[in-house]
Amino acid sequence: MSRTAAPFPALGARREAPEPGLYIVSTPIGNLADITLRALEVLAGVDLILAEDTRYSRRLIDHYGIATSLSAYHEHNAERARPEALARLAQGQALALISDAGTPLISDPGFKLVAEARAAGFAVHPIPGASALLSALVAAGLPTDRFLFEGFLPPKAEARRARLNALAAIEATLVFYEAPQRLGECLADLAAELGPRPACVARELTKLHETLHSGPLDELAAHYGAAETKGEIVIVVGAPPERAALDPAALSAELEALLAAHTTKDAAAILAARHRLPRRDVYAQALALAGKRLP
Ligand code: SAM
Repeated sequence: MSRTAAPFPALGARREAPEPGLYIVSTPIGNLADITLRALEVLAGVDLILAEDTRYSRRLIDHYGIATSLSAYHEHNAERARPEALARLAQGQALALISDAGTPLISDPGFKLVAEARAAGFAVHPIPGASALLSALVAAGLPTDRFLFEGFLPPKAEARRARLNALAAIEATLVFYEAPQRLGECLADLAAELGPRPACVARELTKLHETLHSGPLDELAAHYGAAETKGEIVIVVGAPPERAALDPAALSAELEALLAAHTTKDAAAILAARHRLPRRDVYAQALALAGKRLP
């Protein structure tokens, strides 16, 4: 029996042009092979591809021999580009939105375009695929049943710590994107605000230098605080420990450590947020401990 030589028969078959509407197309986060057959069909068939950075996306488009024109859609031109895109949709065109990497709208532009396209009654279709968020989450070895995607934390230390304090009591795995030059200071703040929770630094996923480094937050902070790090990074942090699992001696030790660096009030607030404990009880314990430390 003869076999077809085409590795992807679905791509070899004649296809119809996509229906009019907006297609939100996921593209690879590193390895160019991580793109779906449907994504390639849609990108090849639409009237126009809206790309965050047309020069960057050209590499992917050329790699797959796609001839569709690219037009820029990014945060600096969106106010002008969005009405143009909506006008094309009104003419019955099919448009694809892509970002530099992964899934558009995930820490990337596109939310307002999707909202306005849907409000105007145009069809919006997701074409799912790679995202650094899910790739890191599924490889980190931390619970995946509940997670909160925080995206990028504020770059300034004070705002970052305030945000982490607000996240401390959330009973879910937390997922952050971070720039390599801020990794050390970000891990130090994560350790200070969330305690020594299990975590994973996922670097350069799907690329040549992919690494997954797991450990308690304080150990990761010490490691990356001392080393220069390059590449793209996702940080995954485990949920706070169950209350029943809290050991009173370990809690006292944690409070002692916090009292060495913070006022009694702040130390109590941090510990209470970390472990979802009544602030008043922790404050009383902190006062007692602080009293013991006086000469
Ligand atoms: N839309 C993308 C997605 O679906 O993942 C995310 C875009 S956001 C502007 C870029 C950030 O995603 C990077 O700074 C990094 O935190 C993370 N990221 C992207 N590619 C990655 C990779 N290959 N490995 C690890 N993190 C990555």
